[in-house]
Amino acid sequence: MRKPFIAGNWKMNTNISEAVALVSEMFDDLNCIESVDRVICPPFISLQPIKEIIWGTSIELGAQNMYCKAKGAFTGEISPVMLKSLCKYVIIGHSERRQYFFETDLVVNEKVKSALAAGLLPILCIGETLEENEAGKTSDVLSRQVKAGLQDISAEKEFVLAYEPIWAIGTGKAATGQKASQTIGFIRDNLAAIWGNENAESVRILYGGSVSGSNIAEFIKEPQIDGALVGGASLKAKDFIDIVRQTAALKQP
Ligand code: PEP
Repeated sequence: MRKPFIAGNWKMNTNISEAVALVSEMFDDLNCIESVDRVICPPFISLQPIKEIIWGTSIELGAQNMYCKAKGAFTGEISPVMLKSLCKYVIIGHSERRQYFFETDLVVNEKVKSALAAGLLPILCIGETLEENEAGKTSDVLSRQVKAGLQDISAEKEFVLAYEPIWAIGTGKAATGQKASQTIGFIRDNLAAIWGNENAESVRILYGGSVSGSNIAEFIKEPQIDGALVGGASLKAKDFIDIVRQTAALKQP
């Protein structure tokens, strides 16, 4: 069985003291739910202070982005080699990076490869826009993003995929559990076409887009869906804990 996985993407929210306060508020509850992989992805500046709080526990950290080079004259960027000492995961290809920072499939693939080379586990985000969805292009878009994002990655590399329909991110309009499951099944078929069934079955695929305590069960009860990438609700300690708790209850080994 794939271990359930819940990650909180805090985006560009919280200063260091707010981040420390938020993690401290969640800490006891998160710490004891070990049947779920729990990952917090705060802004870069809070990785080190949070690392000190969660030290020695199985709560993990993720970065929200990285540059694809190891070091050099790239003013303002953070490299995977720098992140390796701070966190286990890194979100790559989030739709906000693709939309506001013009990250193409090629850039996303470079980042995935260099994260893996540095020993980080990518959380690779894919998803279609509302227009693409309404035009019946979802399958084409997702197949392209999977193929391009994972180009030249060998089957034994570990990573997590997050299916995040862009129309569902931050809108309060989540996909239905059934539809998300069907789409994630399709994504898994695409992985199987690249690496074979057994490898595709081992990859964790999350749903993301307006997940909250009131709808997480709908997603988690679907066998195809291994967890969630949570934005807004991960900034509220009670909500995030509720999501992790329900996941643990519904995905028992
Ligand atoms: C996200 O940013 O990855 C996300 C899913 O956000 P939200 O949960 O707020 O829709």
